[in-house]
Amino acid sequence: MRWGLVGASTIARQYMIAAIRAQHGEVVGVVSASTDRARAFADENQIRRAYIDLTDLLADPEVEAVYISTTNEKHLPQALAAIGAGKHVLCEKPLALALQDAIAMVQAAAEAGLVFATNHHLRCSGSHRTVRALIDSGRIGRVLSLRLHHAVFLPPHLQGWRINAPDAGGGVIPDITVHDADVARFLLGEDPVSVVAQMTASGLGEGVEDSAMSVWTMPSGAMVMSHESFTHPFAGSGLEVHGTEGSIFARDVMTQNPIGSIELVTASGREAIGFDHHDLYAEGVRRFHAAVAGDGEPAATGPDGVKSLAVALAVREAAARGVRIDVNYGGVR
Ligand code: NDP
Repeated sequence: MRWGLVGASTIARQYMIAAIRAQHGEVVGVVSASTDRARAFADENQIRRAYIDLTDLLADPEVEAVYISTTNEKHLPQALAAIGAGKHVLCEKPLALALQDAIAMVQAAAEAGLVFATNHHLRCSGSHRTVRALIDSGRIGRVLSLRLHHAVFLPPHLQGWRINAPDAGGGVIPDITVHDADVARFLLGEDPVSVVAQMTASGLGEGVEDSAMSVWTMPSGAMVMSHESFTHPFAGSGLEVHGTEGSIFARDVMTQNPIGSIELVTASGREAIGFDHHDLYAEGVRRFHAAVAGDGEPAATGPDGVKSLAVALAVREAAARGVRIDVNYGGVR
């Protein structure tokens, strides 16, 4: 698979180029809004071609798929252009700022017969897959609740648009709550129905929230508690799933790296559970390549990206209005 990168971003530099290459993909071009950034990024990452116009990258016949990792407000026009040019799309989360925009992207790809995926990496991890398998196998009985701990400290090099640019999709809710929504959907196999929430700016946010806490109701009756922040240097991340017959404690697993630990606690005692430590992003690329080859679906599909955005939008609205909000999935199943 030959890829074009849309965006000279940190995530592409730190994770995705290596992930594509690990899956025998080739990165043939990168497009940036700045000539200097495009050239420097291409040189630094051994990418053959640097573009400053998306149209030129999309006209490159070698490019079969694009990875979009620009700021969030650009995802929609760039994805539609790529789909219009017949390219498969792996798009970063949140897919868009508005639900209808995300739906439009996913529908356009479906109508064009192209693969469209959302880069929700956590469901690609060995840890999350193992937690899901424990739940599915009945080891903890009926699930009563899920607690998601995703309050971290945003490193200084990422403290740009995320903390001060609402128009670019800044704020912890579009940044991290979308991931947590995907995790809850992945682990529990059901979609949140309604949410209550609070949000605040606790030190980093300028015009956007940097912290949020919310509680989600699931169709089964399970409750989900979700905490996201940019301002917590020492909180650590993790998740807990509590059931009638046991509890799962997964520590340090809301991360970009294949780390962490899982412990199962039941009436029989405490048990450390092993899991596979493969690269999360490479696994996402592997599934994308397979989907393009006609073998299954991407790890996180377009509808998965629409739904995680829908939950995040509901959380922000619930926090802003101080009321319970029913999640609007826009009819997407
Ligand atoms: P960056 O801030 O690193 O890059 C975003 C854009 O900012 C780039 O496309 C680039 O524009 C522009 N930019 C980069 N450097 C500069 C600079 N020095 N001056 C001005 N503009 C600059 O973003 P991230 O990599 O952190 O995030 C990009 C996307 O990826 C977001 O949608 C985010 O939500 C998502 N993301 C997903 C993760 C995941 O695990 N799935 C993890 C991290 C991010 P240009 O392309 O025009 O050069």
